[in-house]
Amino acid sequence: MPHEIPLSRPDITDLEIELVTSVMRSGRLSIGPMLEQFEQMVAARSDRLYGVGVSSGTSGLHLALAGLGIGPGDEVITTPFSFIASSNCILYVGAKPVFVDICPRSLNMDPAKIEAAITPRTKAILAVEAFGNPARMNECAAIAARHEISLIEDCCEALGCSLNGQPAGSFGRVGVFGFYPNKQITTGEGGMIVTNDRRLADLCRSMRNQGRPLPTSAASASAPSSPGIGTWLCHERLGYNYRLTEIAAAIGVGQMRRLDEIIQKRQSVARLYFDRLMDNHDLILPTCEGAFTQSWFVFVARLASAYTREERDRIIQGMRRHEIGAGDYFPCIHLQPFYRDRFGYAPGDFPIAESVSQRTIALPFFGSLGAGDVDLVCQTLAHMISRENIKQR
Ligand SMILES: *Cc1c(COP(=O)(O)O)cnc(C)c1O
Repeated sequence: MPHEIPLSRPDITDLEIELVTSVMRSGRLSIGPMLEQFEQMVAARSDRLYGVGVSSGTSGLHLALAGLGIGPGDEVITTPFSFIASSNCILYVGAKPVFVDICPRSLNMDPAKIEAAITPRTKAILAVEAFGNPARMNECAAIAARHEISLIEDCCEALGCSLNGQPAGSFGRVGVFGFYPNKQITTGEGGMIVTNDRRLADLCRSMRNQGRPLPTSAASASAPSSPGIGTWLCHERLGYNYRLTEIAAAIGVGQMRRLDEIIQKRQSVARLYFDRLMDNHDLILPTCEGAFTQSWFVFVARLASAYTREERDRIIQGMRRHEIGAGDYFPCIHLQPFYRDRFGYAPGDFPIAESVSQRTIALPFFGSLGAGDVDLVCQTLAHMISRENIKQR
């Protein structure tokens, strides 16, 4: 019997449910031991010393930029082919996003174009591992080092992937993960800043908690001049409420314990798609190179270059009519209404990103997707593509 196949589905087991229940019974719902444990697990997995749990990937990116002191007058180089948050966070701190085009194989920023876009105002490179592909992150890190600017790694799509054994989150001065329900692991809503920079981690920890002093800082040693009795109503800097709840952290601890299993399941679903789509010459499949391990955020195939955006959109609509979740990941950021209005971008500004973006089709992708459903998705996709070919004649 036909049934709906969603684009994504979280992988939650009794372990996560039991951990959440234990928090609910404990009476401690914010700033507690689950958060610390979750932070340590994510930091260790990304080979960093410090993890700072936050309320979303977006709030983590905001704090990372604020913590690096990026602000008005500064430029940050980033990709137009991403989810909007990787660029919006640059606007939050009053800096200017400077887009550079992508490389058509990895779909990540083209390092040669990064180099050409650096000016005396460039404070950082904000690189995204598109769809969990770490390709060229090492080159981004080398460029940042050469120009003495920071690499901020938006690894929100990349938990568990690695390049030459080096894990996502460890390429930049700071990395940020996201745990929305469609990511490799979820906490419902949530994010995590990872870094080896103690000062930056402390700053982010304070800013996520209304600018309160840390238990270890000088102000908390109850300096007589500091307002408030103790530290709770003392605010040393402009802060935010970007805290992650103990309930969310508990889900995260369970997910991190199962991370290898979760990634293995995603890798086998990706293999099923490769098997079934490899011989379809109307499609370009994600690139996989020996040097890296993908953790698979989504499985995005793209139509060959002869296809138009209208044809792609009809194919996606056709799949949705058959109750198969399919998505246009991602429309280019510079062509979003807000960016066109604010900065005057127009079609043609970043031709590779635009050409890729108008032909992508994100297919249903989650660990429990069975081989039968993958067959159905691939058959429906092939059928919708052939309908477009018939129309052309
Ligand atoms: C998911 C994602 C984020 C953060 O998303 P949140 O919903 O705020 O957790 C940021 N950047 C990229 C590239 C993402 O895919």
